[in-house]
Amino acid sequence: MSKSMAASHAMGKKLSDAIFGASGAAVAAARVHGADHVVNATIGAYMDEEETLACIPTVEKVFRKLPIQDIIQYAPIAGLPEYLESVINLTFAEQRPDGYMEAVATAGGAGAVHHAIANYAETGDQVLTSDWYWGPYSVLCREMGCNLTTYSLFDKDRNFNTRSFFNKVTEILKSQNSLLIIINTPAHNPTGYTLSEEDWSQVLDICRKCVENGKRISILVDIAYIAYAGEKNETRRFMKLFSNLPDELFVMFAFSMSKGYTLYGQRMGALIGLSSNKDIINEFRAVSEYTSRATWSNTNRAAMTTLIQIQSDSILLKQFETERESFYQIIRQRAAVFMKEAKKCGLPALPYKAGFFLSIPSEDPDAVCHKLHDDLIFAVPLKLGVRIAVCAVTTKKMAGLADKTMKALQFV
Ligand code: PLP
Repeated sequence: MSKSMAASHAMGKKLSDAIFGASGAAVAAARVHGADHVVNATIGAYMDEEETLACIPTVEKVFRKLPIQDIIQYAPIAGLPEYLESVINLTFAEQRPDGYMEAVATAGGAGAVHHAIANYAETGDQVLTSDWYWGPYSVLCREMGCNLTTYSLFDKDRNFNTRSFFNKVTEILKSQNSLLIIINTPAHNPTGYTLSEEDWSQVLDICRKCVENGKRISILVDIAYIAYAGEKNETRRFMKLFSNLPDELFVMFAFSMSKGYTLYGQRMGALIGLSSNKDIINEFRAVSEYTSRATWSNTNRAAMTTLIQIQSDSILLKQFETERESFYQIIRQRAAVFMKEAKKCGLPALPYKAGFFLSIPSEDPDAVCHKLHDDLIFAVPLKLGVRIAVCAVTTKKMAGLADKTMKALQFV
C-alpha cells in the first residue's frame, strides 16, 4: 500500500475525469493526423466554425478595457451589489416569480452548486439528481460528506420520468427529513433535454405534497446553459411556477458566466435564492456569504464589472445579445444536422432540445468511443452513453457524424 499523509477523510480522493481523458486523445490525434481530419466532440466550450475557442466580441472589448483597479481590487465577499442585482434580473427576465430573492457571487456555476450542497444538504444525506448528470455533482457531494443518488430522467417513451422522480423522492424522504434536488435545465448537460412547464408542475406538485407531510425540500435549478436554450422569456416561463411556494420548499438557481459570457476560466457565477419567507432569504444570504468566506473569500471583480458594464449600457447590451444569439444559432444548426441524420439512420439519440451537448445511450460507451477513434472521432464515454459536444464540432464536420456513430454502436 502506498504511503499517505492525507487526513483519513481525504484518503483515496482522486478525480477520474472521462472528459479530460477523451479530450487528450483528440489533441494527440490532431497532432498526428492534422486537426482537419479529427472531430473533437469532447470540448465543453463553444468553438467557432474555424475551430477556435470563441469569445463574444463585446465581452472581449469590455474586459480588455477595464482599468487595472477593477482587475486587482478585492470585491465584497457577497459580490458587487450591481452585479447581484443584474444577476437576479438576468436569471428571471420578465418571468420573475413572486417571492423574496437574494443573490451571492460564486466562483462559477460550480461554486454555486458547491454552496447549495454545503448549506442545504445534511451531512451524510442523499442529494438527488437525474441519472444522466454532470459528473462534478457527485464530486461536490462527496467532498461535503453527502451522496449523490439518481432517478431516471427519461421513461420508455423518452419523456420526463415523473414516476421515477416521485418514487425516488418519496423513498429518500422515508429516511431523511430534508432533501436537496439538483435539476439542470434548460439545455441539460449531457442530453440537451429541457423540462417542459408540464414536467415542472409535476415536479413541484410532488415536492409540495412532501412538504405538506412535514418534510423540507430545496431545489437547485442549474441554469448554466440557459443563454443557449431559446428566446429569453420563453425559456424562463417555468420560473413563474415558483411563485408563492410553501416556506419549506426553497428554490435556488446556479447562474454562470462561463457559457453565457464565454468567460469560462474567469470563474464567475452566482447562487440565487427564492422563497416566500423573508427570514429564509436572509438566512440564505448569511450562510452563503459565510461559506464564500470559508471557501474562496471573494470572487473575480473583473468578470463582475464586465457584466455590470454590459448590462448597464443599452448599446453594448444589444450588441452583446446579437453576438451571443449568433453563437446560439450556429450551435442549433449543428445539432439540427446531427439530429436529422440520426433520425434518418435510426441512431437512438436522446431528445435534444438545446444546449452544448447531446447524448446517445449505450450499454458500452467506452467501446463505442473507442470504435469511433477509427474514424478519428472523439466523444466522451459517460456511464449511460456517449456525449457529443455540439458546441465544439463545426457544421461541416457534423455531416456524417450520426452515421458513423450508428456504425460504431452496431459494431460493439
Ligand atoms: N452546471 C453544468 C451542468 C455544467 O455543465 C457546468 C459547466 O460545465 C456548470 C454547471 C458550471 O460551470 P462553471 O463552474 O464553469 O460556471
